Amino acid sequence: MLHKKLTFVTGNPHKVEEVNSLIKDKFEITGLKDLGFSEEIPETSDSIQGNAIQKAKFIFDRFEINCFAEDTGLEVDFLGGQPGIHTARYAGPARDANENMDLLLKNLADAPNREAQFRTVVALYLEGELHCFEGIVRGKISMKKTGSAGFGYDPIFIPNDYQQTFAELSSEIKNKISHRGKAVQKLISFLSKIYN
Ligand code: IMP
Repeated sequence: MLHKKLTFVTGNPHKVEEVNSLIKDKFEITGLKDLGFSEEIPETSDSIQGNAIQKAKFIFDRFEINCFAEDTGLEVDFLGGQPGIHTARYAGPARDANENMDLLLKNLADAPNREAQFRTVVALYLEGELHCFEGIVRGKISMKKTGSAGFGYDPIFIPNDYQQTFAELSSEIKNKISHRGKAVQKLISFLSKIYN
């Protein structure tokens, strides 16, 4: 079986776990810790794709290794696509998931439309060349937090065709239908074509 090494540029263990469960049979994923790297990587772009590229490029420039980074935003229709690039710090610099969800629920209290989407962009540097892959899942913001699985906004996001939030669904289902799952599937088919 094909076995290639790639560094996943993230400090979020939940993301490593999700991506590893999709990719581990084909590629060996190592994290920033394995590089002995623990600095904060700048995320100063005004777009999700820009931030993903910025993170991947930072590690590629420093170590000259094959690596990928991802960036995700929650885009709420009624709020004109916000929080978008501000998703992680929606309620302030503490990046507190509960405070973020509480603020969003408050801002949508009287909203006639609760439709939203998660959007992920994966940016891959392979042999020095950049490739981007996007994944989107549409759904709606629930009226209250429900469920305890996953992370971030999972307790208030109900994907289309389901009645439960991401935090109530199994990780297998979330990985199959989620923004990150879709973007990573595109990454895997791209890599599989190259290495086959
Ligand atoms: P970043 O991509 O790590 O910058 O994430 C941006 C924000 O989106 C953070 O608040 C994350 O918690 C949230 N987020 C990213 N992916 C997910 C997910 O799969 N479910 C729920 N929240 C997520």
